[in-house]
Amino acid sequence: MTTTANTANTATLFIDGEWVPASDGGTREIHNPADGEHVVTVSEATRADTEKAIAAARAAFDRGEWAAVPAPERGDFLLRVAAELRARKDEFARAETLDTGKRLVESQIDMDDIAACFTYFGKIAGQNAGRIVDAGDPGVVSRVEYEPVGVCGLIAPWNYPLLQAAWKIAPALAAGCTFVLKPSELTPSTSILMMKVLEDLGLPRGTANLVLGAGAVAGAPLSESPDVDLVSFTGGVATGRIIAASAAGTVKKVALELGGKNPNIIFADADFDAAVDNALNAAFVHSGQVCSAGARLIVEEPIAERFVDELVRRAKQIRMGGPFDDAAETGPLISAAHREKVTAYVNKAVEEGARIRCGGTWGTGELEKGFYYTPTVLDNVRRGSSALVDEAFGPVVTVETFNGEDEAVELGNDTDYGLAGAVWSSDAGKTQRVARRLRHGTIWINDFHPYLPQAEWGGFGASGVGRELGPTGLGEYQEAKHIYQNINPQVTGWFPDHGKVN
Ligand code: NAD
Repeated sequence: MTTTANTANTATLFIDGEWVPASDGGTREIHNPADGEHVVTVSEATRADTEKAIAAARAAFDRGEWAAVPAPERGDFLLRVAAELRARKDEFARAETLDTGKRLVESQIDMDDIAACFTYFGKIAGQNAGRIVDAGDPGVVSRVEYEPVGVCGLIAPWNYPLLQAAWKIAPALAAGCTFVLKPSELTPSTSILMMKVLEDLGLPRGTANLVLGAGAVAGAPLSESPDVDLVSFTGGVATGRIIAASAAGTVKKVALELGGKNPNIIFADADFDAAVDNALNAAFVHSGQVCSAGARLIVEEPIAERFVDELVRRAKQIRMGGPFDDAAETGPLISAAHREKVTAYVNKAVEEGARIRCGGTWGTGELEKGFYYTPTVLDNVRRGSSALVDEAFGPVVTVETFNGEDEAVELGNDTDYGLAGAVWSSDAGKTQRVARRLRHGTIWINDFHPYLPQAEWGGFGASGVGRELGPTGLGEYQEAKHIYQNINPQVTGWFPDHGKVN
């Protein structure tokens, strides 16, 4: 089967309801990381294009058309988006797979998750009309209302391109905001399809805008511009710092979903087979290019040797292959540059004393066409060494060992990040105690990776600021306004009238 879409569409910026090319005619070629085949040619926005998109979103917000749509009707719109995504799941999944190289089945799951996200925010959009506050004074009527925050700059990464964008688009629209979306320059295709859906379903002009291109050019105005009220970013911590710093200049709201160095803690009394199997998933799904990957395996001493031996045995069996190869279990890394980064991470770990138990090599034979890196287990990793500190964002898991709850918690919290972690044990009390003490935004007990659109997602510490999903995920796109009415205005007498005229 060919993996090439062979489309050329160089009017792929969506600004003020029009599909336009980049103002300087710039384009970018997208290639499938699994085999290097050309996928699509898209527009590469200039700063001026992004500024134009911001101006369109600003004007649309200030006209107030979308915010004036009653919230339950905005919710209905999101439900229609979800229905469209479900109907066109395969088309969207194929586009995602061609850009990312991830297995088609994984992209199909992503599309289900995206539809579920739109459904969730569609359902809650009209549910919170604010609240009446008891002012403690019968002469006062006080209420708190939620308004859209305004123009939003939405910046998404390449690992779950449309899913991460959907976590932002759905609540932004539910709240009544307008936005400019900038997906990763590596994975634009599904964002283009999404904008077409929003256009076809009749979203008012300028409400949704799309710019494509490099972060420092097409993305930077979204954090810098005084016309943007909120910037919501998902990506690496280094970029997050740049965005937060430049957003500070105009004191806008900032939401950051950054990386993770996520502990997967296995107690000796855990279900061994389930824990090994899930440790593989935790580390190697999507070749570890998952912000919440279980990249730190932390195993209790009595079972550590047997556990790691079994993990290594199973990791060696993982079949790598192209996204349309039914026998493949995992795919390539996103780019040559990213594979270089993963390679450098492993090399440095080895220099610092780590031992490669399996993996640590590039794909061979047919796989040489793509950016494959074999599933890698590193043990003998010294505490404080770079392998335990830095995010690999590839198919690499480090092994640490511990004895007892206190040490498990100490190791689990020994990171600047705080996105997610897991605890495996058959002792329910122990799992709850440890879960409470871990400083991460999500804790799984006897599981790894599931998330729910109804439940908040986000990080402690260097993993970010704010939360996506759940009611808080909608709240990010709202401003709270307190309206206080004195229903019996009186002279206060605070500044008495002294009767003198100067
Ligand atoms: P990245 O930081 O390189 O890029 C993310 C996005 O930011 C891209 O669209 C990029 O073009 C843009 N960008 C880069 N510089 C910019 C700038 N100066 N101004 C505005 N935009 C800019 O990250 P990536 O390599 O695409 O994604 C991988 C990272 O994302 C990993 O660290 C991963 O952990 C993180 N991630 C986190 C979550 C989460 O939910 N916490 C989810 C997915 C990915």
